[in-house]
Amino acid sequence: MTKRVFFFGGGDAEGSAAEAALLGGKGANLAEMCRLGLPVPPGFTLTTEVGAEYRALGGDYPQCLTTEGAVHLSRVEGLTGLKFGDPEKPLLLSVRSGAQVSMPGMMDTVLNLGLNDETVEGLARFSGDARFAWDSYRRFIQMYADIVLGVDHHHFEDILLGVREAGGNGHLTAQDCRRLVADYLATVKEETGKPFPQDPKDQLWGAIGAVFASWDNARAVTYRRLNGISDSLGTAVTVQAMVFGNRGETSATGVAFTRNPSTGERQVFGEYLPNAQGEEVVAGLRTPNFLTKAGREAAMSDAPSMEEAMPGPFAELMEALLRLESHYRDMQDVEFTVQQGRLWILQTRTAKRSTNAALKIAVAMANEGTLSREEAILRVDPMGLDQLLHDYLDPAAPRDVITRGLPASPGAASGRIVFSSDEAEQRAAQGQNVILVRVETSPEDVHGMHAARGILTSRGGMTSHAAVVARGMGRACVCGAAGLRVDYEARTLTCLDRVFREGETLTIDGSTGEVMAGFVPALAPELTGDFATLMSWADAKRRMAVRANAETPEDVETALRFGAEGIGLCRTEHMFFDPERIIAVREMILAETPEGRRAALAKIAPMQKGDFVRIFEIMKGRPVTIRLLDPPLHEFLPDNQQDLEDLARDLGVDPKQMLRRARELKETNPMLGHRGCRLGISYPEIYEMQARAIFEATIQVKEDTGETVVPEIMVPLVSSRSELDVLKARIDAVAAEIGLGQGHDLAYLVGTMIELPRAAITAASIAEVAEFFSFGTNDLTQSTYGISRDDSAGFMADYLRQGVYRRDPFMSLDQEGVGALVKMGADGGRAARPGIKLGISGEHGGDPASIRFCEALKLDYVSCSPYRVPIARLAAAQAALGG
Ligand code: ADP
Ligand code: MG
Ligand code: MG
Repeated sequence: MTKRVFFFGGGDAEGSAAEAALLGGKGANLAEMCRLGLPVPPGFTLTTEVGAEYRALGGDYPQCLTTEGAVHLSRVEGLTGLKFGDPEKPLLLSVRSGAQVSMPGMMDTVLNLGLNDETVEGLARFSGDARFAWDSYRRFIQMYADIVLGVDHHHFEDILLGVREAGGNGHLTAQDCRRLVADYLATVKEETGKPFPQDPKDQLWGAIGAVFASWDNARAVTYRRLNGISDSLGTAVTVQAMVFGNRGETSATGVAFTRNPSTGERQVFGEYLPNAQGEEVVAGLRTPNFLTKAGREAAMSDAPSMEEAMPGPFAELMEALLRLESHYRDMQDVEFTVQQGRLWILQTRTAKRSTNAALKIAVAMANEGTLSREEAILRVDPMGLDQLLHDYLDPAAPRDVITRGLPASPGAASGRIVFSSDEAEQRAAQGQNVILVRVETSPEDVHGMHAARGILTSRGGMTSHAAVVARGMGRACVCGAAGLRVDYEARTLTCLDRVFREGETLTIDGSTGEVMAGFVPALAPELTGDFATLMSWADAKRRMAVRANAETPEDVETALRFGAEGIGLCRTEHMFFDPERIIAVREMILAETPEGRRAALAKIAPMQKGDFVRIFEIMKGRPVTIRLLDPPLHEFLPDNQQDLEDLARDLGVDPKQMLRRARELKETNPMLGHRGCRLGISYPEIYEMQARAIFEATIQVKEDTGETVVPEIMVPLVSSRSELDVLKARIDAVAAEIGLGQGHDLAYLVGTMIELPRAAITAASIAEVAEFFSFGTNDLTQSTYGISRDDSAGFMADYLRQGVYRRDPFMSLDQEGVGALVKMGADGGRAARPGIKLGISGEHGGDPASIRFCEALKLDYVSCSPYRVPIARLAAAQAALGG
């Protein structure tokens, strides 16, 4: 027979912390705390399996449950000396939700259950405090009506407001509370057509059902979606004897953290409210006081701390916190109540903390000997590091928040508002800090985004152009701030009734999505201290290397500073967009003959060689993978007729010829068109020029600095071995020519990107030619799904909202489909060429779940954008440790 109900209380428990899946985090930890001998009000937990049965039965309880529940209820009565529903000494209960993963405040809890018109009188007599009894009844009716009967709480709040005003807004008297109860009961009857349930048993089963059902409320569903929690887990329900923090000035309720959750310092931090019940703290109805004297003094508050007001219970609490932290070996977040001088612990869980705090605590606990270094590495969420790698707003500085958008790219930035990319560039050139404000951005805004300190858009999601480009550049970005109206004509930004003009100062926080008026001081990231310590521990445990995707000297330097061990993807086309070069590039594109193309390429060659020299010098012999030209040529031409005609004049060619050539190059599906190695097949001169530039740079750097570079030349978009046969032969010919001509021995590798399904399928044959593979998972995802990433914005949001996809496959690798091709490619490559070097590049190279997958395939390295390098280092270490 399956056990459906687990008892805890009186210093023992049937469950324990190990059973969080069955009892929910809250129930499991209540059981554990009982076993530890901590003061916990007795109670019992109905398992998540009961919750699943309840939902499967369409909101009905499994038969035997009532008898099981009754047995446990009488045990609670025995321990408390009270009786549920008793008119003289009534036992009151709390009915609490609790899933395996903590979802703070997402589901519902009912307090003071068991009160009715009769028991309230008993409670008043028994406690000698009529105000307390009627106030508890009033609170219970409101909570129960809201959560179980679906009567919106604003009904009750309106009534309460009226009574408070009539009483001069002072404390509620017993008389006030009696009046409120009468009005509340009448309201329930009016709204539901039925009297408020008076039978405590009906109340109990009603509340349990409502808490089970709260798993499916809209708030909880959204929270799970945002946090990647499975809908199938379900919640447990804990029924527990009430203790009362609202029984006068020797009673209180509060929350305590065993360490400071924002700094991680080892000092208890928390808040409490005298004479109050839990929901008041959570709902922020009253401002709580500090727990410790030090906390009060630091905040210069006059309200007495718990340490000063109730030294006895405070000392007991401190002892309990120490016990809990050393027992769980992690920082805890503890809820407690003091009833007439007696301390009760109501909840403990692993505390949420800032990334700074997480690092400090992990390192401190390892140094204290509480954790091993491996455990410390596994304690820090790699994605959280993102916050530390960018400037962040001074937490102590005041903020005038005008609206909020999506936290699209982390970091904080203040600057003057500009509405166009050209304006951004001009002002930046004069040394101003600017925030580029657009409805949305397009590829034409890239120069403005680069010049700006931050980007703010009123439209678009987390994978919009603005978001993706800003993340790659490491610029702060807030997207889709729907509360903003951007008027390009008037050059104004309006938010409700506030108007901001071009040139006024604005601050954005890309880590939270906040948009603030005026300047807010920011702090620079700290890459030393605990961060450096934990990263060095991680590096020692990591198997895979971490490289960066970078091509400008600035990005290459950033990547190195963040700990990149090589360049995994240097995209040469980015070097062609430089204004000085694009003219020569266009000349090359327009040339009708190989000779014409060669003449134009001869102008680009020295600049291209210079690029590689600079990168090789910075990288000092570390590996650099250079991808030959990849995009379709029309991307280098202007996209409108006027600009094309202007260009024709500049180049001295017939505008008609220009327009014809542009038409020829235009493709229906450029992503699947004349690009990648297909360019190399059609226009051999291009790749030959690039290969020559790479080799000459290698030679020059060797001569100038003595560093030996072994360049890895990567041919993009290969789908069959025959393409690579042709292209590798040409690259080898260039090398031979240079090597022989100048007496140099050239070491280099020629490999390919595996980014088309056919390449993955035929990897064994391709690896007979290719000396390394880099899995280009952006294109591989596009070509496997048949989805163009740039066009996916239109439907991806629907897919995610409707749960058709759990995750955007462009953000986190689709292991089942795309991943199967990666595996096939890796296996094929190794079969043909044992020890072949394998890596991955693309957004996925910086995604912890994808990195775990790469570790499972034993790839040699991951490559990601420079700002993701530390994330990848930590994630790779965790993956190696099996985390
Ligand atoms: P949540 O999951 O939202 O934290 P809880 O079940 O912890 O919900 O309940 C919210 C608050 O209600 C608690 O912080 C506590 O102050 C109060 N509460 C819950 N159970 C009891 C109880 N048995 N006695 C007194 N107060 C309680
Ligand atoms: Mg709750
Ligand atoms: Mg709680």
